[in-house]
Amino acid sequence: MTDTESGATTVAISGGGPAGVMLGLLLARQGVEVTVLEKHADFLRDFRGDTVHPSTQVILDQLGLLAEFDTIARGRMTAIDFGTTDGPLVHQPLDEVNPRHPFHEVALAPQWDLLDLLVRHARTYPTFRLEMEAETVSVVRSPTGPVRGIRYRKDGQEHELRAVLTVDAEGRGSRLRSELRTEVLDLGSAIDVEWFRIPRVEGDPAELRGVLGRGGAAVAINRADYWQVAFIVAKGADAGIRAAGLEAFRKRVGGVAPWMRDRLPAVTDWGDVKLLSVGVERLKRWSAPGVLAIGDAAHTMSPMGGIGINLAIGDAVATANLLGADLLAAQADPRRFERTLNPAIVDRVERRRRLPAEVTQRIQVAAQNRIIAMTRIDAGRSLQPPAPVRALLAGPVSRLLPRIFVYGIRPELIAG
Ligand SMILES: Cc1cc2nc3c(=O)[nH]c(=O)nc-3n(C[C@H](O)[C@H](O)[C@H](O)COP(=O)(O)OP(=O)(O)OC[C@H]3O[C@@H](n4cnc5c(N)ncnc54)[C@H](O)[C@@H]3O)c2cc1C
Repeated sequence: MTDTESGATTVAISGGGPAGVMLGLLLARQGVEVTVLEKHADFLRDFRGDTVHPSTQVILDQLGLLAEFDTIARGRMTAIDFGTTDGPLVHQPLDEVNPRHPFHEVALAPQWDLLDLLVRHARTYPTFRLEMEAETVSVVRSPTGPVRGIRYRKDGQEHELRAVLTVDAEGRGSRLRSELRTEVLDLGSAIDVEWFRIPRVEGDPAELRGVLGRGGAAVAINRADYWQVAFIVAKGADAGIRAAGLEAFRKRVGGVAPWMRDRLPAVTDWGDVKLLSVGVERLKRWSAPGVLAIGDAAHTMSPMGGIGINLAIGDAVATANLLGADLLAAQADPRRFERTLNPAIVDRVERRRRLPAEVTQRIQVAAQNRIIAMTRIDAGRSLQPPAPVRALLAGPVSRLLPRIFVYGIRPELIAG
């Protein structure tokens, strides 16, 4: 770290994930000067999610990006299928869930491709700036306390970026959120994920494949030349699984998903299996004077239901809709860096987005608990629920959860 350089923008966004990049794009589209800081050199991270739900496809359509999106989508799910090793449980075609919605598929697209696409589009707006390999280290505060921007490190130098509004879009494990000086509520997570790849072979289906069995639940995501597998285990089970050895691990996974058995020899080393610790948390308050948290930084989502990206994008759309005009007005004020955007206006974002985040998190936690309880059922008992529960799952209940997870609670549309 050497000397400090100064810059200024209207909105400084820390974190180039779905929340940060989409917010940058939407604000720049309105003419707001925005700088997104991303600490990595690219978006290529193995553990990013892949599911792009109808709620997000509508937004891509509004932006005129659907045709380009089609070129990066690697598979599409037209139904929710959920089964156990003892038989199928739920089969729900999506066109029956929300018939009036224009989209009825969950698209699978690597998140790095989606982020690259959004950035390419965002760069067409002159007020958009993205700094890669730029890591936020702290905030800048006025002497009276409100946040007035960000301090970040890039190329061995520390820079200061003054801003009217600072957005924490740093995702799970955000460090910036401590600057909001609010409580982090831990909802508890019963699961962790073992994350590894196995080969795809000719004739494999394009869809996501999920099954629950004794000892775990396996979800395989199509990433064109390989399957990305998320093997769900009880929280804290990883150390015991590793101690039992790789052969026992392959047997455990193959017992849950027999179709994977002949591919599992591709997992040759524990280095191939990453433990992803799953947490479900949220901030008691999403904003403080001069700063707002959105996406996983405000409400860390479990991978359950593959909804986190879509909620993060919903947060970005709501933020741009609710704050865009006030940010433009602030931008026109020569004394903009001496003033704090009205906290009551910033608070509108939380008021709009808290409900979808909280309800989804509660369902995720309940589903995780149920799944872990089922993976512990011993060999003498069936994993299939009793007939009345199965009848319920075949009826309206099977449409309710996809409605919430795939179409989203309080879905957002870009205003104007
Ligand atoms: C194993 C796993 C699988 C998942 N699968 C799915 C899925 O299939 N579908 C789905 O919808 N959701 C999925 N999720 C959830 C989803 O990944 C998150 O909810 C979503 O990515 C949140 O987006 P975000 O933009 O808020 O944060 P993130 O995607 O976490 O992005 C935050 C960004 O901020 C950057 N950053 C962090 N700190 C700094 C700093 N100090 N300075 C600069 N940059 C910084 C990070 O490098 C990162 O690029 C999954 C989660 C997990 C753990």
